[in-house]
Amino acid sequence: MLKLDFHRTGNHFLQIPGPSPVPDRVLRAISLPTIDHRGPEFGALGMNILAEIREIFKTAHPVIIYPASGTGAWEAALANTLSPGDPVLMFETGHFASLWAKMAARLGLEPEVLAYDGADEQLPDAPGWRRGVQADLIEDRLRRDRAHRIKAVCVVHNETSTGVTSDIAAVRRAIDAAAHPALLMVDSISGLACADYRHDEWGVDVTVSGSQKGLMLPPGISFNAISPKALEASKSARLPQAYWAWNEILAANQTGYWPYTPSTNLLYGLSEALDMLRDEGLEQVFARHERWAGGIRAAVAAWGLPIQCAQPECYSPVLTGVITPPGVDADALRKLVYQRFDLSLGMGLGKLKGRMFRMGHLGNTNDLTLIAMTAAVEAGLKLSGVPLAGSGVDALTAHFSSLRPDAAA
Ligand SMILES: *Cc1c(COP(=O)(O)O)cnc(C)c1O
Repeated sequence: MLKLDFHRTGNHFLQIPGPSPVPDRVLRAISLPTIDHRGPEFGALGMNILAEIREIFKTAHPVIIYPASGTGAWEAALANTLSPGDPVLMFETGHFASLWAKMAARLGLEPEVLAYDGADEQLPDAPGWRRGVQADLIEDRLRRDRAHRIKAVCVVHNETSTGVTSDIAAVRRAIDAAAHPALLMVDSISGLACADYRHDEWGVDVTVSGSQKGLMLPPGISFNAISPKALEASKSARLPQAYWAWNEILAANQTGYWPYTPSTNLLYGLSEALDMLRDEGLEQVFARHERWAGGIRAAVAAWGLPIQCAQPECYSPVLTGVITPPGVDADALRKLVYQRFDLSLGMGLGKLKGRMFRMGHLGNTNDLTLIAMTAAVEAGLKLSGVPLAGSGVDALTAHFSSLRPDAAA
């Protein structure tokens, strides 16, 4: 057996933007004995979780829970609602939006990918990977689709590869302004339970999410929140659906069960995490993330380094991407910080590989942990020979001292 002796003394600092650190309470819940997933206790647990998870999505409609990673729930959203050859409109905000489009093509759909139409001095080859979804481009494209061939608009709420949060309500307004019947599908895998999210109010038809980011669970379960319109579309969708089929799961969920073995122990963890989020209150959870994010941005500004997100109104409360100066390999910096300080930072994904790193500030963390992260990054930058304009640690500490933890950002 491979010894798990890579664990060093003290706590590892897991500062990637998901999986995020799992609270001890959740780990303890997960460690309870596995029970019969067809027995009465499980049915009661299932009913409770299926009711309470709706509050997190802010929906009155069903939320499907899969024993799968977020990618599985992406596939489920598309496969349940669409038919072979259906055109789907997607918006390239970064790596995850691109991967979802690639998946749509593999499933036999016809993705059309819109992207930011302006320039960017810092990243001339990836201007759209610094910005949010442009609802006006979506509206314009839908207006031109007079025959209503486009069946869905798919966007990423919090683009985890860049640290950009898009305005989903604006996308809804764009679809409505074009009077277009396309479904609205949103990936909020990393946004949910960190950033404000409203499935019903924003008229989202399918919200895709996962366990290992804002929900503070280990990886392994994922979600589809579905609107009545999406459910209706699923009745005539012709892409093959088997494992992902909503109808069988919804039928079993009526009594708190699943058609196959669900992730019993992860559901214990979810139940515990839902209690924690409810006790704190979602609005306070969002304010806590905004406050942390404001502090980390103050630190990056003090260093004098560019933030990956170029649009202040789209700054992510979940993570902050930092662009390294030309000639400084962000992956070498990450490796150094990991080796010296036992702290993991998120890597630059896709086109951004080696050019930026990502600082996660989500879920089960606190001020002092984020100060430690910032200190490790600051030390790593200095060891890498990056000239810094000032101390990010000082800026972050000042930010946290001036804003009480229970204050809104
Ligand atoms: C993490 C993430 C995914 C992928 O989820 P997996 O659980 O790794 O399959 C997709 N989209 C976004 C926005 C993510 O943050």
